[in-house]
Amino acid sequence: MTKILIIYTGGTIGMMENPQTGALQSFDFKHLASHVPEMQYFRHETDTLTMDPPIDSSDMEPHHWVRIAELIQENYARYDAFVVLHGTDTMAYTASALSFMLEGLAKPVVITGSQIPIGQLRTDGRENLLTSLEIAAAKDAEGRPLVPEVCVYFERQLMRGNRTTKINSEGFNAFRSYNFPPLATAGIHIHFVPQERRLPLQSELKVSTALDTNVIMLPLFPGIQEDFVERILTMPHLRGVILKTYGSGNAPKKPWLLRLLKAAIERGIIVVNTTQCPEGGVEMTLYETGLQLLQIGVLNGYDSTTEAMVTKMMYLLGKDLTMEERCQLITTSLAGEITIN
Ligand code: ASP
Repeated sequence: MTKILIIYTGGTIGMMENPQTGALQSFDFKHLASHVPEMQYFRHETDTLTMDPPIDSSDMEPHHWVRIAELIQENYARYDAFVVLHGTDTMAYTASALSFMLEGLAKPVVITGSQIPIGQLRTDGRENLLTSLEIAAAKDAEGRPLVPEVCVYFERQLMRGNRTTKINSEGFNAFRSYNFPPLATAGIHIHFVPQERRLPLQSELKVSTALDTNVIMLPLFPGIQEDFVERILTMPHLRGVILKTYGSGNAPKKPWLLRLLKAAIERGIIVVNTTQCPEGGVEMTLYETGLQLLQIGVLNGYDSTTEAMVTKMMYLLGKDLTMEERCQLITTSLAGEITIN
């Protein structure tokens, strides 16, 4: 029988209203299970674990990612798949981080949550949870899992975790994967993508828990000031900058901006170019405004989401690598997070 471990980390799916303040607060996981009676009819065996304490995902920190990764590692041999219940706010960051940290993952890790708590009438949590369990348990004719990777299931779509972004704070379709098609869609039947579009099956799990958070995201905007940028780029512990540029990876032709970025790169700071556009990617040779960045050593972030690049940078900076190796890996697809044409 297929065994699935459900790890509840917190988030709306398991929250209840505080009668005093009216605000939603994390609640005990027992509350969640009692609101999904359908789970007792599930054909597969499920166990549950609650991260202690469960948290609103706005409070998620890299040490929580490490805890989730360790829980998966500790239980890896005993379970066929994992369903992680998580708040939606930072779900895309957790999914991205886990996709890098769980090296050699060969079992499904499906992350889901909900916009309305599971105990409330119009909840989307019940469907998200039950379909995530079905997806996690799905196997091919040879008994191999259909999605042996970190993914996000939300509102009838299974997406590669490190391709997702939260796009809606109100609707049930809270997540989008702009640059990569869904891994599965759920209607009356669940349709999975064909084998050749999936990640290659890995063999041995190794969890990488060293994350270096000395990174910053720097979005460009008309009117951005030199002294502010200078302060950021000369911060003492800074090791990585995720530059959020315009369009296909373009930046204004301000000499001071190029000078500051070049000096940062020469000091050993990794600067990577990602676009502010949610769809499409970086192509630095298309315009002079992009080429100038390439010429000073800014790396290509291709069609990476911000969430994937921030967590990839923390993961790579945490590893014992040479500068050259790090730069090479930033521009390589490690877990299907970028498309290199
Ligand atoms: N603030 C909540 C969280 O991310 C929202 C949610 O779960 O959807 O934990």
